[in-house]
Amino acid sequence: MAFTEKMIIKRDQNYPSILFIEVHSSSGNTYRITKNSCNCKGFSFRRNCRHFQEAINNKALDRLAELQEKVRSESISSSFTSPLIVACRKRAIIAYLNKLRIPFQYNLIDKLEKVLTQTMNPTSFLSYVKKFSN
Ligand SMILES: [Zn+2]
Repeated sequence: MAFTEKMIIKRDQNYPSILFIEVHSSSGNTYRITKNSCNCKGFSFRRNCRHFQEAINNKALDRLAELQEKVRSESISSSFTSPLIVACRKRAIIAYLNKLRIPFQYNLIDKLEKVLTQTMNPTSFLSYVKKFSN
């Protein structure tokens, strides 16, 4: 089957971490393909259509899945280091130290937050806390 339609992978305007394939059909219409759908009429009747089939055949769906995974992991790691999330982690650390009645100085919280971000293992985190307290 010849590749007759133009396919472009795009980001959703409202949800930039969601990708889809935009198809410019030879008939002049534009359709949106995701990993398991196309928004054309044919697909809604038959659960398949030539756009979707072509996206499978020309590996556009494979490419979409690869890029989607990449974007998803990037967005997770960027939210992990966003100022709000960092501030929340610091507050959680302070609450935790207070609960355990472990004395600390505030400059310690920055260090602990970085360690907590890298190693989420509670045991190693606690031994790190004990090393720096008192
Ligand atoms: Zn379609």
